[in-house]
Amino acid sequence: MKNIKDYDLENLKEELKQMGEKPFRAEQIFKWLYDEKVETFDDMTNLSLELREKLKSNYTICNFNILKKQESKDGTIKYLLDVLDGNAIETVLMRYHHGNSICVSSQIGCKMGCKFCASTGIKFIRNLTSGEIVEQILRVEQDTKERISNVVFMGIGEPLDNYENVVNAVHIINNPKGLNIGARHISISTSGLVPKIYQLAEENIQCTLSISLHATTNEKRNQMMPINNTYPIEELLQACKDYIAKTNRRISFEYALAKDNNDNLEDAKQLSKLLKGMLCHVNLIPINKIENGKYDKSSNENIMKFRDYLNEHGIVATIRRELGTDIDAACGQLRRKNLKGDIE
Ligand code: SAH
Repeated sequence: MKNIKDYDLENLKEELKQMGEKPFRAEQIFKWLYDEKVETFDDMTNLSLELREKLKSNYTICNFNILKKQESKDGTIKYLLDVLDGNAIETVLMRYHHGNSICVSSQIGCKMGCKFCASTGIKFIRNLTSGEIVEQILRVEQDTKERISNVVFMGIGEPLDNYENVVNAVHIINNPKGLNIGARHISISTSGLVPKIYQLAEENIQCTLSISLHATTNEKRNQMMPINNTYPIEELLQACKDYIAKTNRRISFEYALAKDNNDNLEDAKQLSKLLKGMLCHVNLIPINKIENGKYDKSSNENIMKFRDYLNEHGIVATIRRELGTDIDAACGQLRRKNLKGDIE
């Protein structure tokens, strides 16, 4: 059966029309799902009994189960969610002074194979549907009874490798009648799927694009991120420049600093040359060492020097505050858990 949360408002109107119903019913359903956050069709009390029965026989309302919840001393919560087919994914809630942010997963597993990331080495299983992406937000809001104001696609998976579902989920999240989270508060992070960056530039969505750059030479980036063999730095940065020209939106570059790998001032110099003149911002992340990983965290002193160099050379750079490190919920630490194996 189809998941009702997979539909954006326009498509749901279409569906209802096909069922011989008035399109405004779709708005009522959206209100029940995303405003009232009900979990059954029976709760949608302003729909006729007949329509509720019709909906029940054609659609599911996917409500994930919370398998496990870990809370960090900084307030960050990591959820292990049962996606109802025997698999589980991780989602993280981060509490900042400017509001709550959620880090959602876009796939079960990942194909990218970045050497520093904990999601690597785990078999790719499947894409998440739009409804399953949206459900992560609903579940966490319902569990905490707190509103989420920011969404980052930085959990497990490569969002642009699940392009249609991610863009459709953004529409549902952004729609004032859906979750009503402003596009400027939604970030899509990519390891650099160049053709999809061009495609995204054509969509009329104002969300933020983050690029996981992490290195300034192809030699080094090839070692860290296999995707660079397909789309090298020059092609990636050209796509970014074209994206900025087309959308007038600032791009955010992620750069995870690993000791003696990409963290010396020569790298900073190279980075400032590459990004010179671009409408962008650099997010410096102290790399999180993963189990058996070869990359170690750079020292705080080095990270600050790196930031200062960039700022002195015309590139706006900030150091990302690390949240949830004590519960393995910080950047790059999420793993797809096997429902049967890993949760005990
Ligand atoms: N596939 C997407 C989104 C998921 S990763 C992407 O590559 O952008 C989210 C961010 O965490 C990316 O910037 C990624 O490079 C970074 N990351 C992955 N592993 C990390 C680690 N061990 N330490 C710090 N950042 C990491």
